[in-house]
Amino acid sequence: MTRARKAAPDRVWWVRHPRYGTAVVSAPDWEQATVEAAKWWEVPWREVAALCECDRTEAVTRNICVGCGVIFHGEGLFCSRCFTARRDEVLQRSARERRYFRSMMPRKGR
Ligand SMILES: [Zn+2]
Repeated sequence: MTRARKAAPDRVWWVRHPRYGTAVVSAPDWEQATVEAAKWWEVPWREVAALCECDRTEAVTRNICVGCGVIFHGEGLFCSRCFTARRDEVLQRSARERRYFRSMMPRKGR
C-alpha cells in the first residue's frame, strides 16, 4: 500500500483498558485509536472497544522523511534513522576529504 505524500495532522492517544493496560497509539480519531490499541494488545477489536477509555490525547507533528519516505513523528526533515545515517555519512565524508586534501598537499623538499 502506498501512502499519500502529504500526511494529515495526527494525534497520539493513550488508550486504557481495565484488563490490558494502556496502549499509546497514533490515529486520526478515537475509533481508529481503539482499533490500533486492539492491534497493539493483539486482541479482537470488538472485545475491547467498549471498555477502552481515553486517558489522554495529543496532537503531534507528523512528517514524511525526505530520506526514506516513512512517516515519523517529530520535527525536521528526516526520521531518526536517516538523521543518524546522514550524520555518520557527513562525518565519514569529511574524514575522506581531509585525507584527500592531505594527499594533494605539495610534498616537502620539492
Ligand atoms: Zn528516513
